Amino acid sequence: MRTIYLDNNATTRVAPEVLEAMLPFFSDRYGNPSSMHSFGGLVMKEVREAREKVASFLGASPEEIIFTSCGTESDNAAVRSALNSYPDKKHIVTSRVEHPAIRALGAHLASHGYRVTELPVDGEGRMDIEQYRRALTPDTAIVSLMWANNETGVIFPIEKAAELAKERGILFHTDAVQAVGKIPINLAKTGIDMLSLSGHKLHAPKGIGILYVRKGTKFSPFLIGGHQERGRRGGTEATTSIIAMGVAAELAGAKMEYENTEVRRLRDKLENTILRTIPNTKVNGDRITRLPNTTSISFEFVEGEGILLMMDEYGICASSGSACTSGSLQPSHVLRAMGVPFTMAHGSIRFSLSVYNTEDEIDFVLEKLPPIIETLRNLSPYWKAGGQVVEKAS
Ligand code: PLP
Repeated sequence: MRTIYLDNNATTRVAPEVLEAMLPFFSDRYGNPSSMHSFGGLVMKEVREAREKVASFLGASPEEIIFTSCGTESDNAAVRSALNSYPDKKHIVTSRVEHPAIRALGAHLASHGYRVTELPVDGEGRMDIEQYRRALTPDTAIVSLMWANNETGVIFPIEKAAELAKERGILFHTDAVQAVGKIPINLAKTGIDMLSLSGHKLHAPKGIGILYVRKGTKFSPFLIGGHQERGRRGGTEATTSIIAMGVAAELAGAKMEYENTEVRRLRDKLENTILRTIPNTKVNGDRITRLPNTTSISFEFVEGEGILLMMDEYGICASSGSACTSGSLQPSHVLRAMGVPFTMAHGSIRFSLSVYNTEDEIDFVLEKLPPIIETLRNLSPYWKAGGQVVEKAS
């Protein structure tokens, strides 16, 4: 059975070009870039080139790029650095729809004496910039806002938010794990101080991330050890993954246009056809200011898990907007923050495409999905009752 992979916000396949570039570093190019000998020096040169490729892709300079192990590490390093660098400031501004890499960190910091403001979003997943402006105080050490949401793809006005923080002398970090590679980013033109990204979301392998730190930004290392990464992250460089990251950044730059035309077209075809052919469906989040590859669609009166399981039988991979916890299906914190009604939130599915998806795959999903929804709805007492739903006790 072929796999139709529409779960690219969870992770992506490693691009063949990336894999090819990595292979020599698993075999004969195993030197340590810090070694004095030329065998290590050769690897150091390749690491330098990879750093330059990433920097050029982001509109940054190579010294502003720190290689980390993942997006979560980059997020933690950024926020903790700000708190260590400005120990008198005890306030953090973030949002209710952040990834756990920031949200759980915020909860942890809140239990250790910090004040955390989580900005709300409206029904379309958008933040209110005036409310954000009011949240900034002289005690704010750092703002951390995601550039694009992993569930809905909704894009926050990050450049504007960064400018407002800068005017007040507040550090600004963005979790751009989902945005990088999908929308053009030029850090040279922004007031962003720190940015996180993750390799496995843009066709590099798992286990490599980047933290961009603008020149002149006070930085306090998360991993204290050797002199690697200019003393900002100790630990021997993950050379194979760093090489991969360089090639992945180059490819993402080359494919940006395709992502925003062809991938968007396939996403729109999938979304519009579902809305047209399956009743009681709705897209979650702002459909305009959104990543080109993502759609979160609610199928009223069905459980998302049921849809996922039935799609899985055809090799179709996607994600649901709810998490099965202790026997009760809790809608995701993102859909809850948006106030998506119970009967909609439970049947929400996120489809996230990549440059590797084809028209034929989208057509296959559009053929299989309507009967899946019909089968599940025929099993649903709420659907049979004609949509007269009472809140189900969980
Ligand atoms: N931030 C966002 C918005 C994400 O979507 C993810 C992963 O899903 C992360 C952070 C965490 O990245 P990583 O898996 O590399 O730790």
